Amino acid sequence: MASRSAAPERESALSLFLRGLFWSALIALVLISWGPNEVPAFSLRGLFGRGQQAGSAVVLLPTPTVPPAARVGIISGHWKNDSGATCPDGLTEEEVNHAIALRVVADLQQAGYRVDLLAEFDPRLKNYHAAALVSIHADVCNPRPDWTGFKTAPATGIQDPAQLQNSRHLKACVDARYAAQTHLPYHPASISRHMTQYHAFREIAATTPAIIIETGFLGMDRALLVNHPDEVARGIADGILCYLRNEPVHMPAPTGKP
Ligand SMILES: [Zn+2]
Repeated sequence: MASRSAAPERESALSLFLRGLFWSALIALVLISWGPNEVPAFSLRGLFGRGQQAGSAVVLLPTPTVPPAARVGIISGHWKNDSGATCPDGLTEEEVNHAIALRVVADLQQAGYRVDLLAEFDPRLKNYHAAALVSIHADVCNPRPDWTGFKTAPATGIQDPAQLQNSRHLKACVDARYAAQTHLPYHPASISRHMTQYHAFREIAATTPAIIIETGFLGMDRALLVNHPDEVARGIADGILCYLRNEPVHMPAPTGKP
């Protein structure tokens, strides 16, 4: 029996070896047929023809996206053009505005916004698109006791009524936050055509909400404007953030007029 059973055993071993060789070659062929990019998607399901579907599903998985930061424009009043109002000792509105504008830019960048620091007649103002634009100015140096306080004026919205509405919202936010930060009164009596008909309002895109602010008077409010530009800037930045974040603020009823 030993000699008769030996032959089938050798046959069986050879058969197993050949079978193993066949399957190895087949699996190798299957693996080679996948491209290098598809190897990570290789799976048992892939072997049964669902590899492409599984691969597509991976691609279609929701991926976290970071929305682009909103853009804000800050005009440093009279910068690169003229001195603006001047005091007898040589202090200029331009330098006071610029110290404040730089700090507003820094505050907004700190809050995650893209900020353009713009000159008074900056070429970029033509059709300027932004979530908000604020021009920073200050009023004259005359030491009249009643000339203290700030005021703002919104873009006119001549081409787009939504611009006026949004500009009024921006104005309400800046008025509220600026007054809270600086404790300056609102001084509506000194709002001039220079503000309501501000040149930049005619240059920017009709959809860009915009205001001009006169931060105070260089005469009576000089100590605040010159010695505490960081507080002045904080008031403006807080107002812009109030608007951008749609924080609750008292809004005067729309009148249809700027
Ligand atoms: Zn000015």
